[in-house]
Amino acid sequence: MKVWVLEWLDTDNIQTNCTIWATEQDALQQACDELIEHHVDNWDPDDPDQAVAADQIQEFIRKGQYRQAVQRFNDYQDDYNSDYAHYYYVHEKEVLSHNQNNSPTLPPPAPVAFKASSPGATCRKCSNPNPYAYADRSDGTYCCRQCSTFSTIFGVSP
Ligand SMILES: [Zn+2]
Repeated sequence: MKVWVLEWLDTDNIQTNCTIWATEQDALQQACDELIEHHVDNWDPDDPDQAVAADQIQEFIRKGQYRQAVQRFNDYQDDYNSDYAHYYYVHEKEVLSHNQNNSPTLPPPAPVAFKASSPGATCRKCSNPNPYAYADRSDGTYCCRQCSTFSTIFGVSP
Protein backbone atom coordinates (compact mmCIF):
# COMPACT_ATOMS: atom_id res chain seq x y z
CA MET A 1 0.00 0.00 0.00
CA LYS A 2 1.23 3.46 -0.86
CA VAL A 3 0.37 6.77 0.75
CA TRP A 4 1.31 10.37 0.09
CA VAL A 5 3.09 12.22 2.84
CA LEU A 6 2.92 15.97 3.24
CA GLU A 7 5.74 17.31 5.37
CA TRP A 8 6.13 20.85 6.52
CA LEU A 9 9.42 22.10 7.90
CA ASP A 10 10.08 25.32 9.78
CA THR A 11 13.86 25.68 9.68
CA ASP A 12 13.85 28.66 12.05
CA ASN A 13 12.06 27.03 14.97
CA ILE A 14 13.03 23.47 13.93
CA GLN A 15 9.42 22.38 13.80
CA THR A 16 8.01 19.77 11.52
CA ASN A 17 4.58 18.47 10.79
CA CYS A 18 3.51 15.49 8.76
CA THR A 19 0.12 14.43 7.40
CA ILE A 20 -0.81 11.37 5.35
CA TRP A 21 -2.97 11.49 2.23
CA ALA A 22 -4.46 8.86 -0.06
CA THR A 23 -3.52 10.59 -3.32
CA GLU A 24 -0.77 12.87 -4.53
CA GLN A 25 -3.38 15.41 -5.61
CA ASP A 26 -4.92 15.56 -2.11
CA ALA A 27 -1.53 16.05 -0.46
CA LEU A 28 -0.45 18.75 -2.93
CA GLN A 29 -3.77 20.56 -2.62
CA GLN A 30 -3.43 20.59 1.16
CA ALA A 31 0.16 21.86 0.86
CA CYS A 32 -1.07 24.73 -1.33
CA ASP A 33 -3.94 25.57 1.04
CA GLU A 34 -1.48 25.76 3.94
CA LEU A 35 1.26 27.72 2.22
CA ILE A 36 -1.28 30.27 0.96
CA GLU A 37 -3.07 30.62 4.28
CA HIS A 38 0.01 30.68 6.53
CA HIS A 39 2.48 32.49 4.29
CA VAL A 40 1.50 33.96 0.94
CA ASP A 41 -1.62 35.69 2.31
CA ASN A 42 0.61 37.47 4.84
CA TRP A 43 3.24 38.57 2.36
CA ASP A 44 3.73 42.25 1.70
CA PRO A 45 2.25 43.25 -1.70
CA ASP A 46 4.68 46.19 -1.79
CA ASP A 47 7.66 43.85 -1.59
CA PRO A 48 8.43 43.13 -5.27
CA ASP A 49 9.99 39.71 -4.61
CA GLN A 50 7.03 38.56 -2.56
CA ALA A 51 4.51 40.07 -4.98
CA VAL A 52 6.03 38.28 -8.00
CA ALA A 53 6.32 34.96 -6.17
CA ALA A 54 2.76 35.23 -4.81
CA ASP A 55 1.37 35.92 -8.30
CA GLN A 56 3.21 32.95 -9.80
CA ILE A 57 2.18 30.61 -6.99
CA GLN A 58 -1.46 31.64 -7.27
CA GLU A 59 -1.35 31.27 -11.04
CA PHE A 60 -0.04 27.70 -10.72
CA ILE A 61 -2.80 26.91 -8.23
CA ARG A 62 -5.47 28.40 -10.53
CA LYS A 63 -4.29 26.06 -13.29
CA GLY A 64 -4.27 23.09 -10.90
CA GLN A 65 -0.47 22.83 -11.09
CA TYR A 66 -0.05 22.24 -7.39
CA ARG A 67 3.36 20.58 -7.64
CA GLN A 68 4.77 23.63 -9.43
CA ALA A 69 3.12 25.96 -6.89
CA VAL A 70 4.81 24.12 -3.99
CA GLN A 71 8.13 24.14 -5.85
CA ARG A 72 7.84 27.88 -6.51
CA PHE A 73 7.12 28.48 -2.83
CA ASN A 74 10.16 26.45 -1.77
CA ASP A 75 12.31 28.26 -4.32
CA TYR A 76 11.20 31.59 -2.88
CA GLN A 77 12.27 30.37 0.56
CA ASP A 78 15.71 29.44 -0.79
CA ASP A 79 16.14 32.74 -2.60
CA TYR A 80 14.77 35.28 -0.12
CA ASN A 81 14.05 33.64 3.21
CA SER A 82 16.80 31.08 3.71
CA ASP A 83 17.39 32.00 7.36
CA TYR A 84 13.72 31.43 8.31
CA ALA A 85 12.67 29.07 5.55
CA HIS A 86 9.48 27.08 5.60
CA TYR A 87 9.33 24.18 3.18
CA TYR A 88 6.57 21.87 2.04
CA TYR A 89 7.40 18.41 0.73
CA VAL A 90 5.00 15.93 -0.84
CA HIS A 91 6.36 12.47 -1.48
CA GLU A 92 5.16 8.91 -1.84
CA LYS A 93 5.77 6.32 0.84
CA GLU A 94 5.25 2.58 0.98
CA VAL A 95 3.56 1.41 4.17
CA LEU A 96 3.16 -2.07 5.63
CA SER A 97 -0.23 -3.58 5.02
CA HIS A 98 -1.91 -5.29 7.91
CA ASN A 99 -3.78 -8.07 6.21
CA GLN A 100 -3.65 -11.63 7.55
CA ASN A 101 -1.49 -13.03 4.77
CA ASN A 102 1.24 -10.52 5.28
CA SER A 103 1.08 -9.27 8.83
CA PRO A 104 4.25 -7.82 10.23
CA THR A 105 5.50 -9.80 13.19
CA LEU A 106 7.75 -8.84 16.00
CA PRO A 107 10.68 -11.10 16.73
CA PRO A 108 10.06 -13.25 19.83
CA PRO A 109 11.66 -11.90 22.99
CA ALA A 110 15.00 -13.43 23.78
CA PRO A 111 14.68 -16.10 26.48
CA VAL A 112 16.26 -15.22 29.76
CA ALA A 113 18.94 -17.81 30.29
CA PHE A 114 19.43 -19.25 33.72
CA LYS A 115 21.78 -22.02 34.58
CA ALA A 116 22.42 -23.20 38.12
CA SER A 117 26.06 -23.33 39.10
CA SER A 118 25.73 -26.57 41.06
CA PRO A 119 23.69 -29.73 40.46
CA GLY A 120 20.52 -30.58 42.32
CA ALA A 121 17.09 -29.55 41.05
CA THR A 122 13.46 -30.42 41.53
CA CYS A 123 11.13 -31.05 38.62
CA ARG A 124 8.52 -28.31 38.59
CA LYS A 125 5.95 -30.70 37.09
CA CYS A 126 6.19 -33.84 39.10
CA SER A 127 8.22 -32.46 42.03
CA ASN A 128 10.76 -35.27 41.86
CA PRO A 129 14.18 -34.15 43.05
CA ASN A 130 17.23 -35.05 40.99
CA PRO A 131 20.68 -34.59 42.57
CA TYR A 132 22.41 -34.59 39.15
CA ALA A 133 20.17 -32.20 37.26
CA TYR A 134 20.91 -28.49 36.95
CA ALA A 135 18.07 -26.07 37.60
CA ASP A 136 17.16 -23.92 34.61
CA ARG A 137 15.20 -21.42 36.67
CA SER A 138 16.28 -19.33 39.57
CA ASP A 139 13.77 -21.05 41.87
CA GLY A 140 15.86 -24.25 41.68
CA THR A 141 13.52 -26.18 39.41
CA TYR A 142 13.93 -27.92 36.09
CA CYS A 143 11.72 -30.13 33.93
CA CYS A 144 12.65 -33.78 34.15
CA ARG A 145 13.04 -35.95 31.11
CA GLN A 146 9.77 -37.73 31.71
CA CYS A 147 7.78 -34.53 32.07
CA SER A 148 9.42 -32.82 29.12
CA THR A 149 8.72 -35.87 26.94
CA PHE A 150 5.13 -35.76 28.16
CA SER A 151 4.78 -32.09 27.34
CA THR A 152 6.40 -32.53 23.92
CA ILE A 153 3.80 -35.18 23.06
CA PHE A 154 0.83 -33.31 24.46
CA GLY A 155 2.02 -29.86 23.51
CA VAL A 156 2.07 -28.47 27.03
CA SER A 157 4.92 -26.15 27.79
CA PRO A 158 6.92 -27.30 30.85
ZN1 LIG B 1 9.01 -34.36 36.20
